Amino acid sequence: MNSVVQFPNRIPTVEFEERRFQVYTAKHLDKIDVIQQLPEDTLFEMKVVSSVLPFRVNEYVINELINWDNIPNDPIYQLVFPQRDMLRPEHYDRMAETIREGADKQTINAVAKEIREELNPHPAGQMQMNMPELDGEVLDGVQHKYRETVLFFPSQGQTCHSYCTFCFRWAQFVGDKDLKMASTDAEKLHGYLQQHTEISDLLLTGGDPMVMKTKHLVQYLEPLLEPEFDHIRTIRIGTKALTFWPYRFVTDKDADELIELFARLVEKGKHVAIMAHYNHWQEITTEIAEEAIRRIRFTGAEIRAQGPIIKHVNDDADAWARMWQKQVELGIIPYYMFVERDTGAKNHFELPLARAYDIYRDAIKQVSGLARTARGPSMSAGPGKVEIQGITEIKGEKVFVLRFLQGRNPDWVQRPFFAKYSDTATWLHELEPALGEEKFFFEDEYEQMRRGNG
Ligand code: SF4
Repeated sequence: MNSVVQFPNRIPTVEFEERRFQVYTAKHLDKIDVIQQLPEDTLFEMKVVSSVLPFRVNEYVINELINWDNIPNDPIYQLVFPQRDMLRPEHYDRMAETIREGADKQTINAVAKEIREELNPHPAGQMQMNMPELDGEVLDGVQHKYRETVLFFPSQGQTCHSYCTFCFRWAQFVGDKDLKMASTDAEKLHGYLQQHTEISDLLLTGGDPMVMKTKHLVQYLEPLLEPEFDHIRTIRIGTKALTFWPYRFVTDKDADELIELFARLVEKGKHVAIMAHYNHWQEITTEIAEEAIRRIRFTGAEIRAQGPIIKHVNDDADAWARMWQKQVELGIIPYYMFVERDTGAKNHFELPLARAYDIYRDAIKQVSGLARTARGPSMSAGPGKVEIQGITEIKGEKVFVLRFLQGRNPDWVQRPFFAKYSDTATWLHELEPALGEEKFFFEDEYEQMRRGNG
């Protein structure tokens, strides 16, 4: 006899005290006590950089995740606090000068806007190429890049509990409406999904959808349990809340409803995957972070870990190995090591592809088979997700071995191709075909796609 066990009884209760969510932005730098001990120059640099790039950090991150005895090298400090070199020298000097002159807010904002436009705010053709239509109308807040997966940017989820200094979606956080992609329109999303039965995966992303109230998530997700959405097999939710605010899953007012929602989706046959953004093992060192993971896993949802490799934060094989091991220990599946995208403060954070590959290899060598599920280093480039599979020599020529993990044309996937080895290239467009080829095999077709959509 089957017995259906109801929530919340299924959630084992471990007592944690509710914590008030207290957040600081560029306006509140002087309210963060712990940074007042830093040299005045450093504080001024933070002010300059945070006038251009988004800055937001919460009290949990400051007090629980950063080791203040290890400043400025602490990886979480580098992950959230602005650093001078994040701006190119000419941009830094221009903004520093503007602030020193005592310019008003309007002038500072105007200068910031001009600088931001030079920082490639929408990499990989996001604005031009991935916007689907419903009944002849472009759908805001929806991207359909790969056949089986749709990305949805709910407007209530277009911020995060803290911001990562290297965020490739930084453009959405600076209050520039032209750069925002977001939608509140559940009906249109559902209409689109209903018409496109080739879609099996819906990815809720942001910002961070976990900043949303559960009632909004219910509005987007619950209707997918109806039979007309049977083709939507997987619901993925991209989030960094397991790092920045694990209380979201444990003690926030609607945390239990959230956990129940995941459980309901799973019980009704959906695969729920929390795509957790992690950069460093230090993010998974608190009891509350572990409890949040435990509660999510208890619902039957799975957690997959992904994140970019970033200079100053995690350009260290031992740190990756330790993080993947810890994740496996907690039941998380290591999924991706990404390459930092060509946007924003890339100059400061980027690593040559060759170096990223060496770190990946040195890290993966150290872990057991269960942690070797992490793919990478992978570039989410215009044509698709391209993984560096290796560095080798073919007929005396040193090459990168590459493959598409995901492609605008599904037929490109898994096809190996070769690029000339480079010590310095940091992104796909800096690579040249190897072995006497003039072009990569996908280039002409991709160019046609770009023109067709541009
Ligand atoms: S959590 Fe994700 S979207 Fe938010 S700031 Fe970090 S990288 Fe960007």
